[in-house]
This record gives sequence, structure tokens and C-alpha cells, in this order.
Amino acid sequence: MTRQTSLLYLDGVSVSFDGFKALNDLSLVIAPGEMRAIIGPNGAGKTTMMDVITGKTKPDSGEVYFNGVVDLTGEDEASIAELGIGRKFQKPTVFESHTVWDNLELALKAPRGPFATLFHIISGAEKSRIEELLTLIRLSDKRDELAANLSHGQKQWLEIGMLLAQDPKLLLVDEPAAGMTDAETMETAELLKDIARTHSVVVVEHDMHFIRALGVKVTCLAEGSVLAEGSLDHVSANERVVEVYLGR
Ligand code: ADP
Repeated sequence: MTRQTSLLYLDGVSVSFDGFKALNDLSLVIAPGEMRAIIGPNGAGKTTMMDVITGKTKPDSGEVYFNGVVDLTGEDEASIAELGIGRKFQKPTVFESHTVWDNLELALKAPRGPFATLFHIISGAEKSRIEELLTLIRLSDKRDELAANLSHGQKQWLEIGMLLAQDPKLLLVDEPAAGMTDAETMETAELLKDIARTHSVVVVEHDMHFIRALGVKVTCLAEGSVLAEGSLDHVSANERVVEVYLGR
């Protein structure tokens, strides 16, 4: 795939912190409509990669393009969110003193960007979209529940719904299964597969059952660059992947 036909294109990206290379000549290409899973040991550079994509960290060198032509290295975080890259951090960030419905309504009506800035924006509901989102995130029967009363997993789903309400072109999801029960983890994999029918997704996760349930192409990072890429079986069979990650 060429840069022009890709959705997300990282080529030769390096980032150093005090001389330590957190990303070292990293290349990653995500096709339009693709869902990709990113794995790798702690310190591999997964978070730094997400930070580079969302403009939180500027690369020292290398190219980062969105939609084939938009050079993200020249954009700040707010502009990148506005371009349609939504990021779900590991911890859920929802408005606990508002209902599930109101959280979705807020996100639907607000400009793209961090949800913490949204409170003053509530206005009329776009009901059918919120109904769709409630069904997708498995929370139809919780619509009038305060977000504070949701389980950890349900809060994660709600925030994913809020990101989708902002109609992103690419959804970045950081360790969605962390802290979830086994049942929630498997339901989250199904949820992401549903989302992947209409959206491009990059998901970082450690839970191998979850990755297997996704059934998508996997990229394993180590020491700031790509160690192996392909099906989970292909990546799992790689000796270096076993040595630095799976075997530990
Ligand atoms: P991962 O998400 O795969 O665990 P990170 O991207 O968080 O990896 O970190 C990659 C490496 O870069 C780690 O060794 C980490 O300590 C280092 N690092 C990340 N962010 C910073 C920072 N702001 N300052 C200094 N070192 C950092």
C-alpha cells in the first residue's frame, strides 16, 4: 500500500527522550477500513506511537500522514482530533453525574476533542443516532442510569460510544480490556468488531484472548520499532516475539 492510498502512514518515525529512543525508525501503515491490533512488551513504544499519531509528541524524524495527504507532524492535538482521529485512553473518562444518554448527547453535540471541555454545550438530541449508539455499546437498557453506576467495562463502552458520536475516521483504543471481567473482555472484542464494520481502528492490548477474538492483523512492537507483523499465529510463531514478549 502506498502513502496515498493509506489511512494512516508512519515511515521511519523516531522519538528520543533524553537520548533514549522510545521510537526507533518505526513504520506502520493502516489501510482505510482496517482494524489493527498492536502488541508488545512494556516500554516497546506503543503509547509513544499513539502520542505521535495524536500530536501529543512530535517525532524527531520520520513521516506521519493521515488520509494519504495530511502531514500530521505539522498539526497540534486539537487539529488532529478535528481531522477525525479519536483516542480512547486506558482509563474511562465519562461524566459520572450524568446519565448514559446525556453523556452520548453531549459527545454528539460537541466539537471533536477531549470530553473534559464539553459541559456547557448540551442542546437538543439527535435521538436516532443516540439510539443506534446505545444499541452498539450494549447500554440501551442503561440509558437513564447515571454513568457513575456503570461497571468499569460499561464505562469503557460508554466512552467508546462518545468517541463514535463524534464520527471519527480513525479510532485509537488503548488497552480497552484492562480491568475488565472475562465476559466484558469478550464482549468488548465483539463491540470493536461491530465498530470495525464502519470505522478504522487501532487497538493496543495485552490480553491475547482478546486479540485472538478480534481476528485481525497484529503488529508487535519492541524497542521502538516493528518486530513482527501479520496474523496472530504468524506473529506468535516469531522467535523474537516469544523471547521479548509472549514467553515472559
Ligand atoms: P509502551 O506504551 O509500549 O509501554 P511507551 O511508549 O510508554 O511504551 O514507552 C517507551 C519508552 O519511552 C519507555 O522506556 C519509557 O520509559 C520511555 N518514555 C516514554 N515517554 C517518556 C517521557 N515523556 N520521558 C521520558 N521517557 C519516556
